[in-house]
Amino acid sequence: MDCSQCGARAVVFLRYAGRHLCGDHLAVFVERRAQKEVREQLRLDGHARIAVGLSGGKDSSVAMVLLHKFLARRPDVELVAVTVDEGIDGYRPPALEFAVRLCDELGVEHNVARYSEAYGHGMDEVVSLDPEAIPCSYCGVFRRSLLNREARRLEADYLATGLNLDDTAQSAFMNFARNDMERTARMGPHADVQPGLIPRVQPLLRVPEKEVYLYATIRGIPFHDAVCPYAERAQRGLYREVLARLEERSPGTRHAMLGSHEVMRSALRMASPPVELSTCSECGEPTLGDLCRACALVQRLQA
Ligand code: SF4
Repeated sequence: MDCSQCGARAVVFLRYAGRHLCGDHLAVFVERRAQKEVREQLRLDGHARIAVGLSGGKDSSVAMVLLHKFLARRPDVELVAVTVDEGIDGYRPPALEFAVRLCDELGVEHNVARYSEAYGHGMDEVVSLDPEAIPCSYCGVFRRSLLNREARRLEADYLATGLNLDDTAQSAFMNFARNDMERTARMGPHADVQPGLIPRVQPLLRVPEKEVYLYATIRGIPFHDAVCPYAERAQRGLYREVLARLEERSPGTRHAMLGSHEVMRSALRMASPPVELSTCSECGEPTLGDLCRACALVQRLQA
């Protein structure tokens, strides 16, 4: 089929938009949506330092390249990258190499934060210490906390992630199915600044995963293309599958899910504005109680 924009050979059919696009027009379409998000989510009125969570995978590598494309020439904006090393043998080390290479190419400062240093254990050890647990239930909490800690150490005003439309729609779906409205209210992107919490921004919020992949390929962005060995034990997989089937039957489901989530999130935030947070007695991260969730998990491992 031909591109709906220019008549060249199309590389993709976007069913939710009813459009065939060639590589060039798909790339422009991705860039436009990401740029709109950056404009809407970032308040750039003075100097801003943006820490980018860069795993070396396709999503965060594309987010890094796009932020660099949009902002690197601005003298009032500084980009730094943070890679979290979860301690997963055979998976994170090669991804880390991609992250280092991309930062070298872009001339962006690169930092590494390791679970083994922050929590005393990498994920491979966590899995052997608590074999019954779903690894992601540790890893997700550790990553969120460590990225925030590292972004604060780097004095960042924002923390950018590579979360795409599929990721966000799946999370919204999971929260809804589990009646976890507290998590819905906390999800990024964040417009409000809470002491100790670095507001998160998501340039790829409205870009489907497949288009992120194609964009990386079209633009020649190097990334580590592998799946975490613990991913198949994650509950998210089931939600991913269901959502993909719904999208197949009713194109636009992911966008509709995101739209419903955004309405619900702002209603929740208006109904109960964020409570004042204290600091974790162990690590100093913002928390509701005495211990943050990451330190509570570390204590569980030591029990
Ligand atoms: Fe961590 Fe789970 Fe992601 Fe693997 S799949 S990196 S264990 S959150």
